[in-house]
Amino acid sequence: MTNKYMYFIANWKMFGGLNSLNSLHKVVKFFKNFKKNKSIKIVYCPPNTLIRPMSKKLETSQIEVGAQNCHENETYGAFTGSINSLMLKNVGAKYVIIGHSENRQAGETDKLINLKIKSALKSGLKVIFCIGETLQQKRKKITKQTLNKQINLGLKKINNKNKVLVAYEPVWSIGTGLIPKSSELLNTISHIKKKIKKTKVLYGGSVNPKNISELNSVNNIDGFLIGGASQDPKKFIDIIKKTYN
Ligand code: PEP
Repeated sequence: MTNKYMYFIANWKMFGGLNSLNSLHKVVKFFKNFKKNKSIKIVYCPPNTLIRPMSKKLETSQIEVGAQNCHENETYGAFTGSINSLMLKNVGAKYVIIGHSENRQAGETDKLINLKIKSALKSGLKVIFCIGETLQQKRKKITKQTLNKQINLGLKKINNKNKVLVAYEPVWSIGTGLIPKSSELLNTISHIKKKIKKTKVLYGGSVNPKNISELNSVNNIDGFLIGGASQDPKKFIDIIKKTYN
């Protein structure tokens, strides 16, 4: 049984339409009964099209809503197809994921990530800042070096780091079913915590009801960023329950 403040962040990626909101009541009901005496925060990050209706649905539940990315400009501008942090806040988002490896792989640089984080914090959003090494970097044993660079550049000149949650997501683990060894994870999370003091560090990458107990045995983790499994309310609830067993 854990007594720590734990975050469970659902990343729906580019999945879901209005009908996907129909099953949310299961999580709301579960959370209402479960959260008593527990320090727990649930945040759903759906596609932008669902932020407003989801926020409305979750209004009285204490489950919060976030976005999955934002434009770096915090004012309006001629950026066709883009959405900035202020617009996300306006429709109900309280958090935004920035630096997800799927976006890094699509060309997002550390410098751009830094600008996005600054604009999100300025707009009053909390940031879920994703970092992680590729398989190649892991094999070359440059995981810490890689994370240091991502942290140094991504959080450059950012003072209010207490509004930033770090999500350590090894790229080789996302959507693959593979997870790091407990000893490796413990070591990497401690390294991140030493580098960015007083910041919560979450783990993300193939978290599911089968591996959550093993992952949660790594006792310096402050929560989980959950992709695939978060789209199924049963699996998401199971993950939360097993964390507190
Ligand atoms: C993610 O996309 O942030 C993620 C952790 O995905 P998955 O849980 O599906 O590996």
